[in-house]
Amino acid sequence: MSHGSRHLFEPIDIGPIRLENRIIMGSMHTGLEGGEGPLDQLATFYRRRAEGGVGLIVTGGFAPNYDANLGTPREEMASADDVARHKPVTQAVEKAGGKIALQILHAGRYSYHDHSVSASAIRSPINRTAPRALTDPEIEQTIDDYVNCAMRAQEAGYHGVEIMGSEGYLITQFLAERTNHREDEWGGALENRMRFAVEIVKRTRARVGEDFLIIFRHSALDLVDGGMSGEDTKTVAKAIEAAGADMINTGIGWHEAQIPTIAQPVPAAAFSWATRRLKEVLSIPVAAANRIHTPEDAEAVLARGDADLVSLARPFLADPDFVEKAKAGKRSDINLCISCNQACLDHYFMGKSISCLVNPAAADEASFEVGKSQKPKKIVVVGGGMAGMAAATTAAERGHDVTLYEGADVLGGQFNLARNVPGKAVFGETISYFEKRMRDLGVTCLLGVKASPEEVLARDPDHLIVATGVSPRRPDIAGIGHPKVVTYTQALEGTAPIGEKVAIIGGGGIAYDVSLYLLHRTGNYHSDISSFNKHWGIDPESFVNGGLVEVERADQKASHQITLLKRSEGPFGRTLGRTTGWVHRRELQRAGVKTLANVIYDRIDDEGLHFTMGGEARLLECDTVILCAGQDSVSDLMDSDLLAHLKRQSIGGAHYSAELDAKRAIDEGTRLAISL
Ligand code: SF4
Repeated sequence: MSHGSRHLFEPIDIGPIRLENRIIMGSMHTGLEGGEGPLDQLATFYRRRAEGGVGLIVTGGFAPNYDANLGTPREEMASADDVARHKPVTQAVEKAGGKIALQILHAGRYSYHDHSVSASAIRSPINRTAPRALTDPEIEQTIDDYVNCAMRAQEAGYHGVEIMGSEGYLITQFLAERTNHREDEWGGALENRMRFAVEIVKRTRARVGEDFLIIFRHSALDLVDGGMSGEDTKTVAKAIEAAGADMINTGIGWHEAQIPTIAQPVPAAAFSWATRRLKEVLSIPVAAANRIHTPEDAEAVLARGDADLVSLARPFLADPDFVEKAKAGKRSDINLCISCNQACLDHYFMGKSISCLVNPAAADEASFEVGKSQKPKKIVVVGGGMAGMAAATTAAERGHDVTLYEGADVLGGQFNLARNVPGKAVFGETISYFEKRMRDLGVTCLLGVKASPEEVLARDPDHLIVATGVSPRRPDIAGIGHPKVVTYTQALEGTAPIGEKVAIIGGGGIAYDVSLYLLHRTGNYHSDISSFNKHWGIDPESFVNGGLVEVERADQKASHQITLLKRSEGPFGRTLGRTTGWVHRRELQRAGVKTLANVIYDRIDDEGLHFTMGGEARLLECDTVILCAGQDSVSDLMDSDLLAHLKRQSIGGAHYSAELDAKRAIDEGTRLAISL
């Protein structure tokens, strides 16, 4: 065991079960929960995580009845058929020596169907339709459905259930005044508002007996106007313990909260202080969650006494062996989650199965079986960005003899730029991970060497993989050669001076990254918890009104006056991630960044950027013009006649440059190597 992980690997008894370590794999929707047949793919997904040594797995949420579903397809645990569908999951985890609890989730007003229900008929700001208020008999029936769901889970072989009482779902909708305007015994005073949650736990315990784990996921911090106060959260937690829960897991923020809780700008373990408040009044174990992504962050939470366990979700997509590696002290072998949400949450909200940007095999393990090749080949990979490194790693894993060329002195390609953006330093960990994997697998890495066609030929490869990436596009504008024009690469590398007044040509992800880089150069609220709280208006002290306070404007003074411009019509930042884009848009808005769409660029000169908008010639006075206007593929080796006889393929940006996409790059590189 790693010396620095003393607390993490101490066994703990929770109700009827003993866990070998204090790491829980938190609930995540995978998109594999629906359908009619047995949940075989989900079983493989969880089996793989159980094999990796996690103490306890909590499934994605399953609905206790039809109205409780988030949307379609139906994802329920309510009938004997459902029990049969789930058995492959529990059997697979059991066989791997793991433990698994089923999460019971009633979406309430967060449902995306037209028959949603809630405590009161109040529409959520993130849903199109208003729910119907449950009648008193319906509330009783819903409680019975929770109990039935838990009993079905027990029948299916789960070790327990987690009753989802946070993130703004139905139970939270009863708990908070924001959404509970009832005047009967289920609304009004806290005692009434928490009756629904307490009755669910009490009646479930009465039916499942003592030998079945009941976890309650409790909202430690609502982060919405009209949310629970700190005292309310404690009162509810105590009542839930008294009702028979074995453990409290904590959740932070409702889905409609306008404060990031798991995105990149959130500091590590930023909310464990809220979990600690609950732990202080409880005698059952308490788990902390949200932005705990490394063994050292997890250990620190436990060492501080903020929680008894930690719940990590996305890190188990990135690396199913997170726990085993942490236990063995092999920290640098862990493929860390970079909190991008691009392939997990963003996929889910687009109705797709989830995956992981840094580990495309996540939730699709069968397609990514990296067996040994029957015919080991000599493979040359040109380009040490994410596509090239992914291809080289997997090809070497398959037993091929791999040589990788990188023209720069360091590996990582565009990730080296991204890591300079505030909150994205973790991208450097991904580079280090792949670099070490390549080293361990015996890939020959030639850094600072430009692979000419002759150089490639001299290696006599069986297969050439061209992963030479992209170069920033220089749009055809008069004066583009003016000294005040710099590329996004130069801006993010810090190799060009950037004046106070900045025009950014482009309105996509890179334009946002560059803006954030410039605006946050002096701030540290993506790494310091108290600065983060101040910046976003979180109140850890008096803690009333869901933990919100007015945002202090003092820290809002921007270091640059930035204007984003683009040729096309429509809103800016359309290509930003579905679940994270709003954070970046808000940051730019708060810093007073201006946006101008539908412009025609006329010229760049000493005065600034001249453009036409709505038929009117205008001037944007600026010191610097930064080009974030896309990129062009660099793929000369694909066109070289000298290499025409070789089997060669391009991947990543060299293959398709319309948008920088590390998810596609890693996926393509991995899949190609598996096919060789
Ligand atoms: Fe983490 Fe991104 Fe993978 Fe999601 S897609 S698990 S956020 S690295």
